[in-house]
Amino acid sequence: MTSALRARLGKRASVASGLLGVLCVLAELCFLLPDLLVTRDALPLYKQHIGLFRGILQAAILATFALGAAGILLLRSKAHGLLGIGLASIALLLGGSEAEPIDVGPRAFSAGLDYLVLELLVLGLLFIPLERLFALREQRIFRAGWQTDLKHFFVSHAGVQLLSFASMVPAQALFAWAVRLDFQQAVAAQPLWLQFLEILLAVDFMTYWVHRAFHKIPWLWSFHAIHHSSLQLDWLAGSRMHIVDVLATRAAGFLPVFVLGFAPPALYAYLVFVSFHAVYIHANIRWRWPVLRWMIATPEYHHWHHTSDEEGIDKNFAGFLPALDVLFGTAHMPGHWPGKYGTVKFQPPETYVGQLLYPFRRHGASTPYG
Ligand SMILES: [Zn+2]
Ligand SMILES: [Zn+2]
Repeated sequence: MTSALRARLGKRASVASGLLGVLCVLAELCFLLPDLLVTRDALPLYKQHIGLFRGILQAAILATFALGAAGILLLRSKAHGLLGIGLASIALLLGGSEAEPIDVGPRAFSAGLDYLVLELLVLGLLFIPLERLFALREQRIFRAGWQTDLKHFFVSHAGVQLLSFASMVPAQALFAWAVRLDFQQAVAAQPLWLQFLEILLAVDFMTYWVHRAFHKIPWLWSFHAIHHSSLQLDWLAGSRMHIVDVLATRAAGFLPVFVLGFAPPALYAYLVFVSFHAVYIHANIRWRWPVLRWMIATPEYHHWHHTSDEEGIDKNFAGFLPALDVLFGTAHMPGHWPGKYGTVKFQPPETYVGQLLYPFRRHGASTPYG
């Protein structure tokens, strides 16, 4: 093995060990303090399949040790490998896959740490290899800004219960009068696949206009500019979103769901699907999807939304259905990929806190794409 290859493999193994070690410790805490840290609605599901989740944790701890050891053997700098092994040891000391929950009693709100760990594990395992194999652009996994994006990911996932609760309040407070029980029962009695499509259409229609407003109204743009500040796109870049942007978009999306009253299985299927889709359309993957690309938003479609090239500005607002952009005159997919990404004027700061404060610090006139 050449020394360059040795160093590259060693570096990858060490970093993977360190990151996986962090996830192991977080997962371990979920096993120990489920009432505080685990999404309440998901608890029965975990109890039902507890053997499976213990198995995943055991495999992850073993993989952390193995990758850490490989990193130490291959690389001159031992820090990351040792960090991974240290974290895996902490997870083992906390009880490993045999850890039993400490009873602290149910709470009104809990952190969605389980959601954070599982999403990061599943999305990372799926998208990092895909982005290596089918890369659109040559760029690093740990490109500039990844730590900021990970913080956004952390907040929106660990705070999932609070965020969902907050985004339901406007619809419940303002549109309770529009709810008709017999109508909702008829909606929920339809075939699930049909409800799934109806949810897609209704939510996408609402969020299309909210998204467009975030681009056109200067003060709203200063929130949404955070999402557009990434200069490189990949699966993690989609998480970069101001919390006000997240709340407003979800609140608008929840409105038709609340009034129409779909059956929970259709809604859950939609939520799982859309959480993968939203990650995929930001990914650094070059698949073009010849026919499908005008039916469903693909990376090519959403990358054009993120471009700072003149021809793509204020185009492709739809999260899922390009037909909405075609209908309202904002579609743009010329057959080649955009040249560059980011905002045109005013680059928001790169730090997480700087991004949160950015809309409140900006005074004076601002142009929609500034
Ligand atoms: Zn946008
Ligand atoms: Zn985006």
